[in-house]
Amino acid sequence: MILLFSASSVMAEFNAEMYRQENPASLSPSIFYPDFFKKTDPITLSNLIREFKHRYEFFMGISSESRQKSCFKVQNRINQWLKKFQQAKKIDFKWADDELIFNEESPLFLMIRPGPFKSEDNCKFLSYGDIASDGGVFCRYHGPDPQSEFYQAHAHQFIEARPFFTAYDLTEILIFLPFILVLPVSWLIMKKFLAKG
Ligand SMILES: [Zn+2]
Repeated sequence: MILLFSASSVMAEFNAEMYRQENPASLSPSIFYPDFFKKTDPITLSNLIREFKHRYEFFMGISSESRQKSCFKVQNRINQWLKKFQQAKKIDFKWADDELIFNEESPLFLMIRPGPFKSEDNCKFLSYGDIASDGGVFCRYHGPDPQSEFYQAHAHQFIEARPFFTAYDLTEILIFLPFILVLPVSWLIMKKFLAKG
């Protein structure tokens, strides 16, 4: 019985060995256009409604933190821990994925306190560089935090990968268009008024 129990606990033990080897996968160019933006960028009625709703909620002070923002916080927290481990030479993992980061049996999960969690099911974490020395992690779905080292190092690739004109841009124009139109009209009125004087 004891033997059986110990055998099954060994079976359940997390095998982290593969994370100490070279990362078998390399980062593909598609990571520069995260799936979250692929969903929210196209100019569709539902995306425009969502953009207007965000702004209305923000204006009314009733906006809650977006899933993307909370994902950025998770990424930053994990990366801060990784920095500490790297400085103290406490880890020997070369790369990481969802399993190494979020599996409750994983040695990395157990080192980060409180244990990391995904801000939504779509989140898919990957690592870049060598996480034992200078690498970090980011979410493939939401993309990296624009303030992060990884984004800053590849900013032009992230910007180039997105369409030039998105639902976000159209919403901004629709909101500011009345103000833009008011300017020349008020200028004309002023001109006429001054001419009369
Ligand atoms: Zn995410």
